[in-house]
Amino acid sequence: MAFGLNTYPVVYRAKYDTGNWREEYLEKAHKTPAEEAALDSAAAAALADSRNCYPDMPLVSYTSQYGYGVFEGLKALPQKDGGLAIFRPDQNAARFARSMKGLYMPPFPEELFLKAVTGTVRRNAALGFSLVYDPAWEKDAFSNAPAVYIRPFSCSEGAIGVSIAKAPWVICICSPVTAYYSDASSDAVVSGRIRANPRGTGWIKCAANYVISALAKHEANEGGFVECVFLDAVERKYFEEGSSCNIFFYLKSGELVTPELGDTILPGITRLSVIELAQDRGVRVSERKISVEEVLSEARECFFCGTAAGATPFTSLTCQGRKTVFNKGKEGELTAELRRTLKGIQYGLIEDRKGWLHHVSRSNEGRAD
Ligand SMILES: *Cc1c(COP(=O)(O)O)cnc(C)c1O
Repeated sequence: MAFGLNTYPVVYRAKYDTGNWREEYLEKAHKTPAEEAALDSAAAAALADSRNCYPDMPLVSYTSQYGYGVFEGLKALPQKDGGLAIFRPDQNAARFARSMKGLYMPPFPEELFLKAVTGTVRRNAALGFSLVYDPAWEKDAFSNAPAVYIRPFSCSEGAIGVSIAKAPWVICICSPVTAYYSDASSDAVVSGRIRANPRGTGWIKCAANYVISALAKHEANEGGFVECVFLDAVERKYFEEGSSCNIFFYLKSGELVTPELGDTILPGITRLSVIELAQDRGVRVSERKISVEEVLSEARECFFCGTAAGATPFTSLTCQGRKTVFNKGKEGELTAELRRTLKGIQYGLIEDRKGWLHHVSRSNEGRAD
């Protein structure tokens, strides 16, 4: 499983307390990275468990009971010229604060967010927990390249009655990840489930939203599909997004369409970046409603995008048992170009003209600040 939890030893934690965020870095039990890699699987699992354990935090909370919590997902990518760089963390900082406000929590200040993510990556790198660029990744345009995944999230104070958090924690962990989708299949399926309802929390990256996603994705996988796609809750006719990624359709007319944002779609940072990269290439991009009917007759290329998924093509879509194949079952040209450009910029192979990369350390030795 590409998304196993092998948390790096240094964890950031802040707690909201009467108007202030009290910050700390915790250094969990560890040996050197080489010694850890040599552990047998039982010892490695025990270590991983201890890293994921906070005996001083409440087990019963609004987060554990009601899924009342927000999170972010971003990556620090090993750079061609050394060191690590985080992709557009300012955007994640803004979204995290928006998500917390959306749940009536005290928003985590954006500058603290930036300091927390870079600090956690840097301190782990200083202990040798990091990744080094490998030119072999260039062969398949980084399709299977690893990265340091960064997961900041909130956790409520101990509580049981249904209510909102007044004194949450914000925690940031890092863990290595590889490709999100195995390339065995690139078939997608339209889920019969509803991910997000109007006036609900679909636009917020909050824990409660992901139960439906997990069920729908499990059902898709059981049916032999890589991913599921959700339709709108009201008309059951328009595309919204995947289980944890946004969606794009390149039409025969030359228009690249992604569903317009509203309160049921998560505003992805990869989505935003892909729109810009496509426009730079002179592609006409529209954010608008797009129906199943239109996609089945007009689409020539389809892809998902997100921090975990990158830009991942899917070459068929199954809707109510009927399968439609796009581009003769092959990845399309525009999808491939956008995927290569995005990954190229992220790993420092293509010049970052937009200032999207936030360099954490120029050398892999890291530096504790
Ligand atoms: C995180 C997420 C995305 C993708 O957002 P990125 O910022 O590109 O990683 C899309 N949809 C959902 C539901 C998500 O949770």
